[in-house]
Amino acid sequence: MSNQKKIVVLGGGYGGVHVAKKLAKKFKKNDDVQITLIDKNPYHTLMTELHEVAGGRVHPESVQLDLRRIFHRTKVNVVTEFVHKIDTENQIVCSEQNCYPYDYLVIGTGSVPTYFGVPGVKENGFSLWSFEDAIKIREHMTSIFEKASLERDAAKRKEMLTFVVAGSGFTGIEMIGELLEWKKRLSKEHNVDPSEISLMVVEAMPTILNMLDRNQAAKAENYMNKHKVEIKKNAPIVEVTSNKIVLKTGEEIPTQTLIWTCGIQGNSDSCAYGLCLGRAGRIVTNEFMQSTDKQNVYIVGDIAYYEEEKGKGTPQIVEAAIQTGDTVASNIVADMEKREKTKFKSNYHGFMVSVGGRYCVANLSGMKLSGFFAMVMKHLVNLHYLWGVGGIYLIWRYLTHEFFNMEDRRSIMGGHLSSKANRLWLVPLRLYIGILWFLEAVKKLAGDKTWESLKGFDKITKFTIGEDSWIKAGNVKMPFEWLKVNGASGASQAADATTSASQAAEGAASSWPTPIIKEMPGFFQSIMKVMIPNAEVAVWFQRIVVLTELAIGLCLLAGLFTWLASAASAFMVVNFVLSAMAGWEILWYFFGAIALMGGAGRTFGLDYYVMPWITEKVSNWWLGKQKPIYK
Ligand SMILES: Cc1cc2nc3c(=O)[nH]c(=O)nc-3n(C[C@H](O)[C@H](O)[C@H](O)COP(=O)(O)OP(=O)(O)OC[C@H]3O[C@@H](n4cnc5c(N)ncnc54)[C@H](O)[C@@H]3O)c2cc1C
Repeated sequence: MSNQKKIVVLGGGYGGVHVAKKLAKKFKKNDDVQITLIDKNPYHTLMTELHEVAGGRVHPESVQLDLRRIFHRTKVNVVTEFVHKIDTENQIVCSEQNCYPYDYLVIGTGSVPTYFGVPGVKENGFSLWSFEDAIKIREHMTSIFEKASLERDAAKRKEMLTFVVAGSGFTGIEMIGELLEWKKRLSKEHNVDPSEISLMVVEAMPTILNMLDRNQAAKAENYMNKHKVEIKKNAPIVEVTSNKIVLKTGEEIPTQTLIWTCGIQGNSDSCAYGLCLGRAGRIVTNEFMQSTDKQNVYIVGDIAYYEEEKGKGTPQIVEAAIQTGDTVASNIVADMEKREKTKFKSNYHGFMVSVGGRYCVANLSGMKLSGFFAMVMKHLVNLHYLWGVGGIYLIWRYLTHEFFNMEDRRSIMGGHLSSKANRLWLVPLRLYIGILWFLEAVKKLAGDKTWESLKGFDKITKFTIGEDSWIKAGNVKMPFEWLKVNGASGASQAADATTSASQAAEGAASSWPTPIIKEMPGFFQSIMKVMIPNAEVAVWFQRIVVLTELAIGLCLLAGLFTWLASAASAFMVVNFVLSAMAGWEILWYFFGAIALMGGAGRTFGLDYYVMPWITEKVSNWWLGKQKPIYK
């Protein structure tokens, strides 16, 4: 009989992914453990950035992380199926297509919005708790602006251009923050008078952002007021229709857009799971994050309900998902190894709430930040998370979406990092610098004097490697003091060579332009003394220099590996300058090289063909080839 232990993780959210990653690492080399992660979607949704998609700030795919790619090169088998049944008696999880037996089950299916029985919200309002929700809001916003732009009836237009967010938790405030930025572009694109647009937050409580310090909440409120967001407090919504909301006070607000962010409950979908449910449909756990009904069923993230303090369930936030995930992973391992389990112990660091792409308030480990630094912190926290999930690939993706491809200047860096020019303008610079490097290499190859002695076409037809060539043994061209000393003392092996080396070094020194820095800095001299200890090595070094210059020149001319060639070009310049061998005129090579690094080879260069090919090959190798889900 097989000894294999089957772990099934249901839900590829923050909690599920974390557990699967930890277990995969732990059991990397253990063939007796099989891990399956099942999610209805082929991607992990970055829920904390959904408002950016809903509010037209980033492209939709930026919040979707392909689960197969996350778990490529791990032992986790990713399955894309909707699970509709969990049979804890027979230890089996079923979707429409398959059933999966398990020894250990981890449930991390997250949460769904709850409407508290307010009539009409579900039918007429929007929620923001899934990728689909975000897309619906995004599409609705563009279509309602389109309609409003054609509407002659002022009252109807007002209804269309009034946008209400219900709830002032992080979801609600982050959502309205996106709208306050997006409205400018929407009104421009659809030719709508911006003064007719109303943004509103409606909150049942007397205060907003109640998880934040009052000072921080007040700062966010001021920012919203400054951007003409009306905030209605003490205003519970009692009814929603297709064209208005009704408040408890009796006030009616005409609107066709209500985004409901007032509350969530455990997502048990069609399967009640047959486990004990606590407050708001969440599954009750013990201190080991096991279901109180079944010891081999562990619960993680939003759906887990554990009262660390009496009457206070685990919060429905990412940190709780990750930390419950830690407990679950280590307790599954402990159970397998028949060790004592660890109790869940929370260690939350606080909250960060963005109000659009340029403003944020944060309360982190007692550190209270707002504005630029709070936003930097939010980005750093996101990057830290992505690093753990997918390394450099996800970091680069995030930076691209949040900065390099950001439209409308909706980031803390404004549009400075996303401003783009046609690369065509770089082609002449690339060819020019390419020719210069090529000629520089050829000149060194021939030898300075030999090269100067050849006139016109003779430089091509009568090209020869002269006695003064940089690559000829004994020709030390680098004007370094210690090479001269070696030469004078007659280095043991090559007396002739080094004597001529010292002469050459002296000659070379006199032929260099007035250097930017007169003397090599101490640290660089120490490095150079180790790398080029004597005349013989110096000549080998010179050969490398000539070859590198030749390669840079040819690459730039062909537009092949332009980024690398440009980086090498900049590196060479830095070395020449630090060696006290280069004058001011060389600096423009450096700045030219930096300009060329912006993809200069992708226009009329081989990089146009080569780079996409390489990117695809590397990506398939590193992250796995994208396959249709049905396969
Ligand atoms: C707009 C917004 C902003 C937020 N901002 C913050 C923030 O700033 N800070 C913070 O800490 N938290 C924030 N949150 C909350 C945070 O996103 C959640 O606490 C977190 O996502 C919970 O993680 P989870 O793993 O429990 O569930 P989720 O991340 O929701 O993942 C659940 C997964 O289960 C899958 N699933 C569900 N049912 C099934 C089924 N039957 N079969 C197969 N798969 C299924 C889903 O597809 C999903 O992938 C925000 C949420 C939103 C919506």
